Amino acid sequence: MKTRLLTSALLLAVMLPTGAGPSAADAKLNVVTTTEDLASLAREVGGDRVNVDAIARGYQDPHFVEAKPSFILKLQKADLLIVVGRELEIGWLPPLIQQSRNAKVQVGAEGYLDASQGVRILEIPTGQITRAMGDVHPQGNPHYWLDPENGRAIAKSIADKLSQFRPADRAYFEQRLAAFNARLTDAVKKWTAQMAPYKGTKVVTYHRSFPSFADRFGLDIIGYVEPRPGIPPSPSHTFDLIQEMKRQNVKLILVEPYFDLKTPQSVANAVGGQVLVVPPSVGGVKEAADFFGLFDYDVTLIVSALKSAAGK
Ligand SMILES: [Zn+2]
Repeated sequence: MKTRLLTSALLLAVMLPTGAGPSAADAKLNVVTTTEDLASLAREVGGDRVNVDAIARGYQDPHFVEAKPSFILKLQKADLLIVVGRELEIGWLPPLIQQSRNAKVQVGAEGYLDASQGVRILEIPTGQITRAMGDVHPQGNPHYWLDPENGRAIAKSIADKLSQFRPADRAYFEQRLAAFNARLTDAVKKWTAQMAPYKGTKVVTYHRSFPSFADRFGLDIIGYVEPRPGIPPSPSHTFDLIQEMKRQNVKLILVEPYFDLKTPQSVANAVGGQVLVVPPSVGGVKEAADFFGLFDYDVTLIVSALKSAAGK
């Protein structure tokens, strides 16, 4: 018994950094987010008081993420789990949360934060809410982070939650939130000015990822390559889409990086238009390294495509 105790003490001495381990109140909060967008916002607000780890990568379709054992390990260690909500993650997250057996991050627990609370959600279905024909947006459009102004509400929710866990650091989180908001105000002004000459431009997108982005920056999305969110393109829908694009003289198709380009490319060819691969998330391309980088990249990409199309 004595030997075992001694061994444990030695082990502890090896594992802990010199000068005693951090007490619970000083240790960084372990924050796990479902997406890299939320991870970026959590880092903005949490600064050096948090460790942030995202589950899905930005180049993956956030509706359909392949579950891995490593995701359960992340959730086991989490103090706080932040989700996009609106059923974006319903296809893969619930079993992971359950299997983590971490009481802190179960739905409804203190360490579970649904980031969609308090943000502006578009396309909320009226009437009966169903997953008709497999529609993956039964609770409105879950891609709301693509309106950068929604970043404010998300960051505020995160700051409030972090302050709840670490009341002594409230001023720190609020100062970081204010700095984020100030920086966002300037950035939104810049992006809006870049997009302004193309206000009202009609585009098509593959999935309904971009309504919030289009709403903020004045693009007019007239159709989708998918017949319904989450439903693959069908020949009859593709035919109708081509007719509609011809009728309205639409030349640009925005496609998320995780979709097959074959159908969008054939549609673009049929209308003499262009396919543009646009990441809807932080980490979708390496340039989109954080929340600001995502909009810097997407706005610049779209503006340069529209500019060169206008010059033709
Ligand atoms: Zn979606």
